[in-house]
Amino acid sequence: MLVYFIGTGGSEGIPAHLCTCPTCNEARRFGFAQRKPSTLAIITKNKKAVLFDVGTDIRDLLNVPLEAIFLTHWHHDHIYGLYKLRWMARETELYAPEGQADALILNDPKNLRPKILKPFESVELDTLRITALRLNHGVETLGYLIEEDGKSVALLYDTKGLPGETREFLEERTPLRLAIVDATYPPGFSDPYHNNVDEAAEMGLSLAERTVLSHISHKNLPFLELVEYVRKRWENRVLVAYDGMVFYV
Ligand SMILES: [Zn+2]
Ligand SMILES: [Zn+2]
Ligand SMILES: [Zn+2]
Repeated sequence: MLVYFIGTGGSEGIPAHLCTCPTCNEARRFGFAQRKPSTLAIITKNKKAVLFDVGTDIRDLLNVPLEAIFLTHWHHDHIYGLYKLRWMARETELYAPEGQADALILNDPKNLRPKILKPFESVELDTLRITALRLNHGVETLGYLIEEDGKSVALLYDTKGLPGETREFLEERTPLRLAIVDATYPPGFSDPYHNNVDEAAEMGLSLAERTVLSHISHKNLPFLELVEYVRKRWENRVLVAYDGMVFYV
C-alpha cells in the first residue's frame, strides 16, 4: 500500500493567517513547509483509495472514487473538507466515532453514509483490514491500524500518549512497518491533548520500524530546524511529514 500525506498540519494550517512567527514566515519562503490540516489517503495494491480525515478540499489531489472515508474524530480541522465532499456524485461510507459528531454532516449528509465505529471494531475494504483504536484526546478519538498482506500502518492522531489497551493491542502486532504519530508541539512543550516531538518519536519507535511525525502546528519548530532536530536524534527511523509526501509500505 501507499500512504499519501495530503495534509500534515494542525488546525490552523501553516502559515496561519497573518501570523509572523518563524514557522509561518519560513512557510511563506518555502512551499514545502506549508501545511494543510489533517488529510491522509491509503492507496491499496489494487489502486483503490481510502481516506482518513478530510481537513481540506481534496478534489484537485485525489479525484477518484473512495472505498470509504474514516474519521479519527469530529474536531473541525479533521472534517472541513467533508462539507464540500458530501456533494460528490457517488454514495460513500463515512466511518466515525460517535462522540461530538457534527450535526450538519449527520443531519444532511448528502451522499455520505455515516456509520458509527467503536474502538477495536474492524472493517474490511478491498485488500485492507482497518481496525479502530482508542486514543487520548479529550473528545472520543479513534486511531487506526491499517493492514494489507501482513504489513501494517498505525495512524495515531490526535492523541497524547496511548491508552493501555491500545498500546497492548499494538505491541502484540509489533513491529509495525510504519507509525504516523501526532507531533503537534515542539520538544519540551507539554499539553494534555497532543504529543510534543520527543513524545511522538518515542511512541513511534517503540512500535514501528519507521515513524512519520504529522499533525504539526505552527507552534512547532520551523520545518528545516525540525528536520535537523529529528535527523540528529533518530536518523532516518523518524521522518517529518510534509504535504504531498508519499510513503510506500
Ligand atoms: Zn487535530
Ligand atoms: Zn505562526
Ligand atoms: Zn483534535
